[in-house]
Amino acid sequence: MQTALISNILINFAIGSYADSTAMPPDRAKIIGISRHRLSTDGDGVTTLVAFHGCPLRCRYCLNPQSLGDSDRFKEYTPQSLYDEVRIDELYFIATNGGVTFGGGEPALRPDFIQRFRELCGPSWGLTLETSLNVPQENIEALLPVVDSWIIDIKDMDADIYRQYTGKDNSRVLSNLRLIAEAGRQKDGKFPLPPQPAYITATAGGVGYLLSQTIIPTPPAR
Ligand code: SF4
Repeated sequence: MQTALISNILINFAIGSYADSTAMPPDRAKIIGISRHRLSTDGDGVTTLVAFHGCPLRCRYCLNPQSLGDSDRFKEYTPQSLYDEVRIDELYFIATNGGVTFGGGEPALRPDFIQRFRELCGPSWGLTLETSLNVPQENIEALLPVVDSWIIDIKDMDADIYRQYTGKDNSRVLSNLRLIAEAGRQKDGKFPLPPQPAYITATAGGVGYLLSQTIIPTPPAR
């Protein structure tokens, strides 16, 4: 998932034990950075952005290449150690309806970690996921009950353009979008346009597709 400007603001960490983050136990995660006190960029209120290492895609214009490849230089967290670190801003979260936004990389690769984190932080923190949705359906099923808001980087609804851009098929994206719609959660989703000009035209068509499928609500007439 593209997490805009993340490379400029994240604090990077050092030393870990798993070179391949996808091979880690499900309740562990390599985190490439934590950014506090974000306002109106990753969800409501004051948010802390937590960026996971690891992504199933290889976008041609990836803004966070540090989330791909070798994870050795990044710190490994458990849900508890992450909670202990980010709870310093709990008062801000509660006062502003903010919370934690999980990005990356692809946070939807770590559903067990996020489920456990929700158990620790309780219901008063908002949890937002910045995701491409290109993950197995069971990951999204596990995340639906614990994630409040979804920022979905659809990239493009055209399968060929999507493959050219990411190197992967977009069929899982479409089926996961339907899953979110069938769960009645489409009002909790945002679909930002990607920053690469070459894709804006195609993505505008993609938003039209989402509207036609009632995957996102029709905007009010002006
Ligand atoms: S989804 Fe694409 S842009 Fe985002 S981290 Fe993965 S490869 Fe990079």
